[in-house]
Amino acid sequence: MYDLAIIGAGPAGLSAAIYGARARLSTVIIEKMYPGGQAAITDIIENYPGFTEGIGGAELTEAMKKQAERFGAQFLNGEVEKIEKQNEKFLLHLKNETVEAKTVILAMGAQARRLGVKGEKEFTGKGVSYCATCDGAFYTDRTVMVIGGGDTAIEEALFLTHFARSVTVVHRRNELRATKILQERAFKNEKIKFIWDSVVEEIRGADAVQEVVVKNLKTGETTSIPVDGVFVAIGWDPNTAIVKDLVKLNEKGYIITDENMATGVPGLFAAGDIREKSLRQVVTAVADGAVAAVSAEKYLEEHQMR
Ligand code: NAP
Repeated sequence: MYDLAIIGAGPAGLSAAIYGARARLSTVIIEKMYPGGQAAITDIIENYPGFTEGIGGAELTEAMKKQAERFGAQFLNGEVEKIEKQNEKFLLHLKNETVEAKTVILAMGAQARRLGVKGEKEFTGKGVSYCATCDGAFYTDRTVMVIGGGDTAIEEALFLTHFARSVTVVHRRNELRATKILQERAFKNEKIKFIWDSVVEEIRGADAVQEVVVKNLKTGETTSIPVDGVFVAIGWDPNTAIVKDLVKLNEKGYIITDENMATGVPGLFAAGDIREKSLRQVVTAVADGAVAAVSAEKYLEEHQMR
């Protein structure tokens, strides 16, 4: 039985693993995909303190992983399908095994929200993408559309200008939500055009995306715009399905914790984007992870479980 099991190896989970392992808790971190989470597929992270020129997301998270391993955290690849609390321990059920732990940190983050329009599902992977860093290079010299007006949408639009001939941002209001510095860069970039007050009604094509039907919310007018790729960046939904009956969630599905990252279930903590909070960034995720691991350590000590 582990002292601490962390679910999710994004920055919050990796930071928790570093702090847990350094506190000499036997620590396992379970990840269903690749370590690093959303940060690992971010081209460049410019606002994580300490890197004057920014740092690649993959590089930063790989270093966090190595750091956690150096202190003895174990990595386990697999998906936790169910969490059970049994007396003073947790049972984490994976497909082919069950991990037992005295404390658990939930750090499963969030996943890209779907538009929910006709054609989106059908053309996912055939012109519809949720990750410019992953798929941008396929659109060299082609035309792409980005949906959304937040930091992700504008960062993706800027990144896509390295490949695409033109990038059209479709946003449902007439002003962006993104940070001012990103807005300034986007407005200055000649490859980026904006379609304001508009939403996507349908994505059409044959074998791959060929056009997007966009509706202006003010006039009601619909226009069909030819594009080769659509990048959807309209926010995130928390990965809380497996804990919805265990912990308190807010109306958007994020886990409510106190400032020690405690969920209210003794021994169960949450950290990073999965949590109700005001700022979701790498810098706040790693802070959450550190606090959660220290709280888990205190919990074990107070209950004489170490
Ligand atoms: P976000 O801030 O929630 O923005 C989502 C955008 O999509 C908003 O502009 C929203 O419009 C629009 N939207 C939402 N649902 C929509 C729908 N159904 N149809 C059309 N448009 C829709 O999400 P995000 O940009 O992914 O950012 C998530 C968090 O990560 C934020 O806290 C952000 O600051 C952070 N982040 C930071 C950085 C950075 O610091 N460099 C980079 C990436 C992400 P409205 O504006 O009208 O609501």
